[in-house]
Amino acid sequence: MIATLSTSCTLGEKAAILRFIEGHGLRVHVGEAGAVTVVSIIGDPEPGVGKSIASLPGVESVRLDAPRYPFVAREARTEPSTVKVRDVVIGGAGVAVIAGPCSVESEDQLLTIARSVAKEGAILLRGGAFKPRTSPYSFQGMGEEGLELLAKARAETGLGVVSEVVAPEDIPLMNKYVDMLQVGSRNMQNFRLLSAVGEQPTPVLLKRGLMSTIEEMLLAAEYIVGSGNPRVVLCERGIRSFETATRGTLDISAVPVLKERSHLPVIVDPSHAAGKRSLVPSLSAAGVAAGADGLLIEVHDRPDEALSDGPQSLTLDGFAATMETVEKIVAALDRPLTKLG
Ligand code: PEP
Ligand code: MN
Repeated sequence: MIATLSTSCTLGEKAAILRFIEGHGLRVHVGEAGAVTVVSIIGDPEPGVGKSIASLPGVESVRLDAPRYPFVAREARTEPSTVKVRDVVIGGAGVAVIAGPCSVESEDQLLTIARSVAKEGAILLRGGAFKPRTSPYSFQGMGEEGLELLAKARAETGLGVVSEVVAPEDIPLMNKYVDMLQVGSRNMQNFRLLSAVGEQPTPVLLKRGLMSTIEEMLLAAEYIVGSGNPRVVLCERGIRSFETATRGTLDISAVPVLKERSHLPVIVDPSHAAGKRSLVPSLSAAGVAAGADGLLIEVHDRPDEALSDGPQSLTLDGFAATMETVEKIVAALDRPLTKLG
């Protein structure tokens, strides 16, 4: 439920409105949309409460059909939000590219990839140190050693680093090394993890669950923002469908839908959607053309030897060529490609 206050609403009336709402066991989130004050009402109100709020002095109107995710709803802000990660901003005018290997595997591997993607225009380095693998027998990641290598790559290249957090108890350790915490597809509805990343200030990259609807994704983001951390970037990474030609089905319409329903920045991961290197350039182009604020691309210097997701990882040259295409689309859309520094 959302209440819009009239422009003539006095401070006293506003205080009384908020007291009334809270008195019914509901929480409020007050936002300004231009000259208008919008009060998002959080919780499940008893029948009739909406009508009572609508009749209070200073209330212009009450929308009963407002989204279930008031903190992340587009209506909560005049302008779309932006998320600062180290020195770079995701969201707003620019298109930001995050690139790197699926998993951190060695110093040589990570530094080779980091140097190359930095040169080609990536603004953040991705790399998993704790990998949520479907099979318990697959490579599970280097753990803290992998995080140390990410910090080393950052020191050398200036790229901020993004890595996946798989458990709430790992957050303090991750925060010693990373600039952005990725919540992976398999954990999009791990509600304790969502609340935990919401209770700390590091920016969060929230990937869409492989079987999740757009509304479920926005409710997952609501857990994080509602817990106190507004620095959330949404990532469409392909959903499971009947199609088997690709690893996932990139839901390209999720980009404009998310941007219509939420103020949060939206990026596209073409790699996990495609599952196959040859498709990544086209899906990257499609993501940017659909209005994404950035891309998350897997890149490996020797993809045939990669310990995870080699088939979908671009080679260093493949990434350079993809960046050329992306730059053309970004320019055609009259948006700048976000640069480091
Ligand atoms: C990844 O980014 O390497 C990853 C595991 O992604 P997802 O959670 O989207 O499968
Ligand atoms: Mn991967």
